[in-house]
Amino acid sequence: MALTGLDIYKLLPRTNCGDCGVPTCLAFAMKVAAKQAALDECPHVSEESQEAAGAASQPPQKLVTIGSGDRALKIGNETVMFRHDERFHHPCGIALLVNDTDDLDARMETVRSLSFERIGQIIDVDTVALNCASGDGEKLQEAAGRIQTELSLPVVLIADSADKLRPAAEGLSDGRPLLWERGGPSDALVELAASAKLPVVVEGDLEKCDADTQKAKGAGVEEMVLCPGEVSPLETLQFLTVTRRATLRRTYRPLGYPVLVRAWAQDPVQQSLEGCHYVDKYAGIVVLEVDSPEYVLPVLVTRQGIYIDPQVPVQVEAKVHEINNPTETSPLIVTTNFSLTYYSVLGEVEASRVPARILTVDTKGTSVLTAWAADEFGPEQIKDAIEKSGVFDQLGEGYRKPIIPGLVAVISGELREELEQEVIVGPKEASGLGRFLNNEWPKLVG
Ligand code: SF4
Repeated sequence: MALTGLDIYKLLPRTNCGDCGVPTCLAFAMKVAAKQAALDECPHVSEESQEAAGAASQPPQKLVTIGSGDRALKIGNETVMFRHDERFHHPCGIALLVNDTDDLDARMETVRSLSFERIGQIIDVDTVALNCASGDGEKLQEAAGRIQTELSLPVVLIADSADKLRPAAEGLSDGRPLLWERGGPSDALVELAASAKLPVVVEGDLEKCDADTQKAKGAGVEEMVLCPGEVSPLETLQFLTVTRRATLRRTYRPLGYPVLVRAWAQDPVQQSLEGCHYVDKYAGIVVLEVDSPEYVLPVLVTRQGIYIDPQVPVQVEAKVHEINNPTETSPLIVTTNFSLTYYSVLGEVEASRVPARILTVDTKGTSVLTAWAADEFGPEQIKDAIEKSGVFDQLGEGYRKPIIPGLVAVISGELREELEQEVIVGPKEASGLGRFLNNEWPKLVG
């Protein structure tokens, strides 16, 4: 039977030392009860308590770490079927397929280039799936070593036998590569993974995965990643869904591991679409062969969207943002600190080529109308933000005329009184800003 937060709390030292990364023992107990943490993440919990809690205190899906250092990839440990139930915790890895016979410098440059900024966050290819196309384990090791050193990214090593994986697995074990023996793992690979303490891919249909994970666990392999192999997109989605349901709804631990899938379609658009579907439906790692931005970016954007915490609005810092080197005669645009709002405004201002300042008011990351309705974006808050930022000191006499969104034109009169300055009502949508700044603004200050 599942333990409650209070049951788990009674097993803890109750010193509130914070060494587990959570401020109190009660908060930590709640996380364990919600399957978001394992009891042994408390370094002070006694063996007796661990035994008493047993398997009930372990998250149903294993957390698997691939790679090391800042860019290590942590996948699994998910707790819900649907993002809106709570959130997804560990973003899946997006891996680019590289052959050890490729021009490695060129391929690494391609991986580096697949990095983009979107709503203030960097989204990029964060894993390399390195295939032993040469059939030579030493060559695989050499290529993997270069990728680990020069890109500092986690590596999935792919070969058709444990022998070919052995040199890289033993020589580069500090970098924690994921070992993928096609159709495996064989007994030899299980032995290798157990002795090197490395994660391993278990490939096959559900029955085979069920049997193989139990065998590998019995042999001492702790971290595993399931893989349905080369099957159709429909079968891949079925595999992803069934394993997630078995893990979360029935706490069936032999399938309680993250899943690696490859988008096999040859057509690049189809492959990109497959990748997006797999990201949405529970994949732990998606391997792509396509390497052009137009095919990879949609997959990265899908991952960014699905792994954002739906309960925490994405926001930018509340401050004055200077665009196109503004002067004391440049316009001051006022908006909220909701990321999507800010980046929509920013894009239009940059495209207009008009030097300007954007003042983002702290509305806890809500959009203009939502913030206004919640009393977070009214005359008082805007006046307060202007005064705290000191932005009027950067503007000449006659140019201290904040431009507010047309959606909240209703507050312009009150704001004018608060500021004792003229207030300009701008366009309702950010898309109107370019024309407004180039055509209307000069007349309003001229
Ligand atoms: S490390 Fe253990 S004892 Fe310390 S606060 Fe966390 S749960 Fe409590």
